[in-house]
Amino acid sequence: MSAGQPRVLAIVPRTAPPGAEGQALLEALPLPAWLVETAACSVVAVNAAACELLGHAADALRGSAAATLLATPEDLAYWDALDAAAPQNLHSHATLCAADGRMLHVERWIRPLQPGALLVTLRDRSVEQRAGDEIETMLGELRATLEATADGILVTDLAGRIRSFNHRFAELFGMPGSLLEAADDGRIHDWMRRSVVDPEGYQQRLSVIEDAVLLSCSDRLELLSGAVLERVSRPLWQRGRTAGRVYSFRDLTRQLAADQRIAELTHTDALTGLPNRRRLAERVLEAATCSRRTGDGFALLLVDLDRFRQINDSLGHGAGDEVLRSVARRLQDCLRSGDEVARVGGDQFAMLARGVDPETVQTLARRLLNAVGQVCGDEDAPFTLTCSIGVALCPQHGRSIDELVRHAEAAMRAVKGAGRANFRLHQPRVQSDLRRAMRLDHAMRQALVSGRLRLNYQPQVVLESGRVIGAEALIRWRDPELGEVSPAEFIPVAEETGFIVAIGDWVLSQALRQAALWHERGTPLPIAVNVSALQFRQPQFVDRVASMLAVSGLPPHLLELELTESILVRDADEALSRLQALSQLGVQLSIDDFGTGYSSLAYLKRFPIDKLKIDRSFVSGLPDDDSDVGIVRAILQMAQALGMKVIAEGVETELQRAFLKSEGCAFFQGYLFSPAIDAISFEHRLLRAAP
Ligand code: C2E
Ligand code: MG
Ligand code: MG
Repeated sequence: MSAGQPRVLAIVPRTAPPGAEGQALLEALPLPAWLVETAACSVVAVNAAACELLGHAADALRGSAAATLLATPEDLAYWDALDAAAPQNLHSHATLCAADGRMLHVERWIRPLQPGALLVTLRDRSVEQRAGDEIETMLGELRATLEATADGILVTDLAGRIRSFNHRFAELFGMPGSLLEAADDGRIHDWMRRSVVDPEGYQQRLSVIEDAVLLSCSDRLELLSGAVLERVSRPLWQRGRTAGRVYSFRDLTRQLAADQRIAELTHTDALTGLPNRRRLAERVLEAATCSRRTGDGFALLLVDLDRFRQINDSLGHGAGDEVLRSVARRLQDCLRSGDEVARVGGDQFAMLARGVDPETVQTLARRLLNAVGQVCGDEDAPFTLTCSIGVALCPQHGRSIDELVRHAEAAMRAVKGAGRANFRLHQPRVQSDLRRAMRLDHAMRQALVSGRLRLNYQPQVVLESGRVIGAEALIRWRDPELGEVSPAEFIPVAEETGFIVAIGDWVLSQALRQAALWHERGTPLPIAVNVSALQFRQPQFVDRVASMLAVSGLPPHLLELELTESILVRDADEALSRLQALSQLGVQLSIDDFGTGYSSLAYLKRFPIDKLKIDRSFVSGLPDDDSDVGIVRAILQMAQALGMKVIAEGVETELQRAFLKSEGCAFFQGYLFSPAIDAISFEHRLLRAAP
């Protein structure tokens, strides 16, 4: 307890009697005091300090019963015991009531002074009491605050001994009540250590924190329960010194889950659930970095749906969304492990294919075309979707995302331009190629106006008898500077620049004139004319054919138009109405280079096509190449089922002819019989001989 009896009382003489002298002695005391006469147990003298403390005049106090002033149970017992025994010292805390009714907290001494007299001294401790009360209140508030916070709090001293903690702390660590009641620091620390995923790391970090007494830090604890806590640790300061540590633990589990969900959403396409453009860009960057290190290549395939707007416009956006989701699933089904597919735009998807080379990526692209090309819609309204794919390879075509995307996009656009529903690898054009293309374009335009273009005719014959049943008009160009330029070289340039429309017009008029001439001379012969996709898409194309036919006077059935597969799959409805119009004119229609493009049975069935031309590339491997054999057989069977004629192109050997004959192919054209020759030679060699 507090200080002992004030030393000043020692000077009070044991024999001092009450009265004037006693009064003087009382006044000399620095504390409130009074004398009690034991026999009557009443106050006989009181000093001014006591009067002031109690708020009573001395007269009012003198003569009053000792028990009215000091009336705590302890005091009352003391006064009661006075009769029975010799008075003892009494020293403790007591309370008194002041004249104004205030409760006074005092430290009080009663001690016998001389026989029959007791000295009562008081020390006012009201201020001290108030401070104590205040501390008590503050502590209470603090405790309530600690309990009310959402964070777990643990306070330790410098030796790591636990000073206090709140319930939230115990709750976060899932501590059982028995552990808390045991109040065993070692067991609590042990429990914490055993709750984390990495106890060793936890212990190491804790040692570091405990060693660095001034350190403020925060880290994360991953608990075995799956929860993630943020632990903030700060030194505990007391009277300007560090006295321990305050740890606060915050549960981050929900926040982290929310963060992760947000991150997922920012990387995911909401409609299809596929990664979005941003995620793909990250993946491409990773793959490019990895490729730099390991040398492994990868491909970026840009898949753009053809005519998707039509679907939206005709079936509505809900159906459009469903189509996109279905395409997403189909593309996902084509993924090999390590590949990734993303939706990067409205109707655009992209695939990152790792570890591919120019050959394997083509197989993959075909698989994608095929997957997208499966029938869509329900039984009542089925439809077929196509897509155009542009491919860029890393590192061959570039290493940066920009480069790869740009090249894949350009390749994809080239596919669109050439009729869609196909794929194309980026073709790096060296500067000299570009210059040559420009030069060709210029020279070609000159050639047309200067009459340097001419047509040759390649006979089409009955496989069995060798009878000529038609001729394909093939353009030829001899340039004074460039020499003989192959159509395989200049036609693609003309297609790219659009000049093919003018060339096509010229070819058609020439071929019609020639055919009309042969017809007039009594040797009618069907003439096949190649039509390029761009030419076919000209709005006036059908009218142009009709008027040119009329001008030439050639019966329409003697004109055959050779179309490419791409014409059929692009804008299929538009193509269908054009083909029907041409067919109604009486013109024959064939599909050139059949098998190299991307057309499905569904398309073929819808169009009024008379003839398929098996591409030279499938004929060249006959009869030994198994896959060529398979493809040629399939085309023949398909054509038979659809009631179409078939002519094989590029037949060069007797073996090829024999094989085609055995498989039931009726017609062929090729060097075996004759290359394309000029009209006069054709007339001399073939027409005059004709019956
Ligand atoms: P195409 O329409 O498939 O024509 C067949 C090509 O194969 C012709 O090449 C022809 O000379 C060639 N060929 C025919 N038989 C054989 C053979 O037994 N062996 C080999 N190795 N080749 C044979 P050409 O004349 O060089 O024409 C190439 C392509 O250029 C044509 O392929 C066609 O796509 C295009 N083309 C030619 N003339 C025109 C035209 O007037 N208009 C359009 N739009 N394209 C044309
Ligand atoms: Mg042709
Ligand atoms: Mg061909």
